[in-house]
Amino acid sequence: MFKLVLDPGHGGRDPGAVGNGLKEKDINLDISKRVTYILSFYEVEVTLTRTADVYLSLDDRCQVAKIIQADYFCSIHSNAGGGTGFESFIYHDVPEKTVQWREILHGTVAGYCKSAGFIDRGMKRADFDVLRKTGMPAVLIENLFLDHQKDAASLKDRCFLDGLARAIADGLAVALKLPLRPQQPQEGTGKTLVKAAPSLKLAQARLFLAEKNLLAPDYIDVYMLNGAKYGIRWDVVFAQSCKETAYWRFGGQVKPEQNNFAGLASCDGKPGASFASPEEGIAAQFQHWHVYYYGGDLPAGVKKMDPRRDAVIKAGWAGALQYVEDLGGHWSSLADYGSDIVDRYLKPMLAVELSEPTPAPFPEPIPAPDPVPTQPPGAPWDPSAEIAKLQTDGLIKNEHRPDDPVTWGEMATVINRLRGR
Ligand SMILES: [Zn+2]
Repeated sequence: MFKLVLDPGHGGRDPGAVGNGLKEKDINLDISKRVTYILSFYEVEVTLTRTADVYLSLDDRCQVAKIIQADYFCSIHSNAGGGTGFESFIYHDVPEKTVQWREILHGTVAGYCKSAGFIDRGMKRADFDVLRKTGMPAVLIENLFLDHQKDAASLKDRCFLDGLARAIADGLAVALKLPLRPQQPQEGTGKTLVKAAPSLKLAQARLFLAEKNLLAPDYIDVYMLNGAKYGIRWDVVFAQSCKETAYWRFGGQVKPEQNNFAGLASCDGKPGASFASPEEGIAAQFQHWHVYYYGGDLPAGVKKMDPRRDAVIKAGWAGALQYVEDLGGHWSSLADYGSDIVDRYLKPMLAVELSEPTPAPFPEPIPAPDPVPTQPPGAPWDPSAEIAKLQTDGLIKNEHRPDDPVTWGEMATVINRLRGR
């Protein structure tokens, strides 16, 4: 199997570049771990020169690569010294393969950086130890400048890092022609199949959402219908939208009027995709799942809504996935992205209890209700009398006028007093 060494630059007593509260050694390790995670879906053996904040000499790093007889060495750095943007380095005197692989990797990462508003500083050559002494094709990439304010802001943005790691992993996968590991559904993995029947009931979804966000709009039917259309469990897609939009509260980078229920394309330093209606936004979300789980062809007669499909196809991920848990692979560089959807959203939804009326064979006689002084139908609307009634019943204690504002705390108290009866 192809052996790749990822080398997070610096570490331990050597922080590398510093600026804007960032240390290069930390950024390099963060990015390297994300790339390693994404590459775990490919047929490739990845070795990190360091997995923690420890010091390694340049010779140590070259030794790691030599001992395992790596096929490629990729050193990951961030820059400083008064510039901005992305650049990459190879040694002066190198075989053609080294030139070609760097071109592909550089093109992918510089392209991503460009889409986030950073310049491409170019494909360069230099006499760096890790490029010369490794004795195999090697590249060193410099991801933005820590001492530049805009660059540093992006390097602090988990969203940007996510996209950057995906660009590096995509670039490596394409350059090195790494095949994806075949993902066949297997029994007993404990993972959640996407092409399966949903487990959630509509009423559970509604109750769950209302508990989290009383003001959430109700698009749950739309989710269910799309699930049937695309052959995807609607409940997991709905669970993802709860995660991405904070239970349809939005409030992050994506605004409600964008109708973007999956945070599609919101990680490139831009506000993300916008859709004309909630229905179109939800269709785009399903289409994005569809390309990962079914491949490049949409169901017949369906209009393409998802602006990201082509990128997924180009990166070779069309139809590559089976489980919800796999989504933290290319959709996100966070290893727990998919399992988080299952554990923190889907499972609590499925745990919502629905009170089902069980008819008793000999129904108890229903006691006559307490006489409540109700207004006869057609009587004039009298808010003050309604408030007085609540006071008489002990549900509220203080004096209130009909136009007094009510807090959630007060409303909850009234509801709980009613429930206590
Ligand atoms: Zn460095």
